[in-house]
Amino acid sequence: MSDKTFTMIKPDGIANGHAGAILDKIIKAGFKITAMKYLQLTPERAGQFYSIHKERPFYNDLIKYMSSGPIIAAVLEKSNAVEDYRTLIGATDPTKAAPGTIRNLFAKSIDANAVHGSDSDANADIEANFFFSGFERF
Ligand code: UDP
Ligand code: MG
Repeated sequence: MSDKTFTMIKPDGIANGHAGAILDKIIKAGFKITAMKYLQLTPERAGQFYSIHKERPFYNDLIKYMSSGPIIAAVLEKSNAVEDYRTLIGATDPTKAAPGTIRNLFAKSIDANAVHGSDSDANADIEANFFFSGFERF
C-alpha cells in the first residue's frame, strides 16, 4: 500500500474556476500536498506524459487538450493514496462518476474531466518524477 499519488487539475478545471474548490476537497479528504506547481504543458510534454495511451483513438485530442491551457500538478500524500484518490475523483466519464466526487461536481465531459489521478503506485512514482525534482518535494 502506497502513501503517495499524483494529480493534475486539467485545463478545464482551471478555466472554469474550480481550482480552489478542487484543492479544498483534496485537503478536506485528508491528503497532504507535498509538491505543487502551476504550468502549461507543451504538446510534446503532454504526449510524453500520456504515452501509455499512444494507441488509443483519443490520444491526439487528449494531447491537444492537455496542452491548451495551464494546469496545476501536485503530489499528494495519505495512506492508501492511489485508491482513495481514485475514489475521490470518480469515474473517467463524469456522467458515470458517483455523486459528490470531483468529476461529478466539476467535470463536463469524458475528455475535459477536471482532474487526473494516478492508477497505480508505480505510475504515481513515474508521474511525480516527471514533474518534480527532489528539491521541489516536501
Ligand atoms: N479520455 C478521453 N476519451 C476516452 C477515455 C479517456 O478523452 O474515451 C481522456 C480523459 O481525459 C482521461 C484520459 O484520457 O482522463 C486518460 O484516460 P484513462 O482511461 O487513463 O482515464 P483516467 O485514468 O483519467 O480516469
Ligand atoms: Mg488513467
